[in-house]
Amino acid sequence: MTGLVVAMDGPSGSGKSSVSRGVARALGLRYLDTGAMYRAMTWWMLRQGVDLADPAAVAARCGEPRIESGTDPDAPTIHVDGVDVAGPIREAAVTAAVSAVAAVPEVRVRLVALQREIAGTGDIVLEGRDIGTVVCPDATVKVYLTASAEARARRRSAEVAGSTVAAQQEAMARRDALDSTRKTDPLSMAAGAVELDTTALSLDEVIAEVLRLVAERRSSEGESEANELRSGRDHVRERT
Ligand code: C5P
Repeated sequence: MTGLVVAMDGPSGSGKSSVSRGVARALGLRYLDTGAMYRAMTWWMLRQGVDLADPAAVAARCGEPRIESGTDPDAPTIHVDGVDVAGPIREAAVTAAVSAVAAVPEVRVRLVALQREIAGTGDIVLEGRDIGTVVCPDATVKVYLTASAEARARRRSAEVAGSTVAAQQEAMARRDALDSTRKTDPLSMAAGAVELDTTALSLDEVIAEVLRLVAERRSSEGESEANELRSGRDHVRERT
């Protein structure tokens, strides 16, 4: 990978989507919501009547749906077999079932391959649970976003009509527990990731911090390239 890659991981409600889109917009990068892909797979399984309590049944069918993600940070899209599922994948039935589907290794193998294909040569911000650990371990900058359980539930209940903070907190705790304890690619902080606790920060403050990390990494890469060039020249001088 040659272009810039920002890996944004963390539990639900930590602010990954808003931060990732803001960073992508500010730097003119593409944006990929990998959670939407797991949700799209789950939506399709529910529609097909696949028994989600049976990992073998999920594994047997997960190669079938055609999942397409649009990567414009101003208007990200998600389609399954040509159907726009941006709305339906946010419904409660999908949210309640997605962690079970995402825990099936065959599902992850398929979606990770798709995500790497989309990431291509870079210039992209990817958000998810395993971007820094599995999908793009060589990302330029890895961020692990956290926030207190209460702050995360408060943010999510403001987004979902008719939900209470307590109900959101309980549902998120259940999903986080499943996502962090599954055998394949569990949610965890990647080596080299910077942890950012967003509890007391505004969205703009978090975006500014990530942009600062990117600038810092770019300048240190620039410096080491210059050093390599210099040592290359020294080497040439030594030899002549
Ligand atoms: O980010 P979002 O909450 O929409 O993700 C939905 C679910 O998809 C997560 O709870 C998790 O089970 C799964 N997921 C995953 N790996 C990712 C992104 C999401 O397992 N990279």
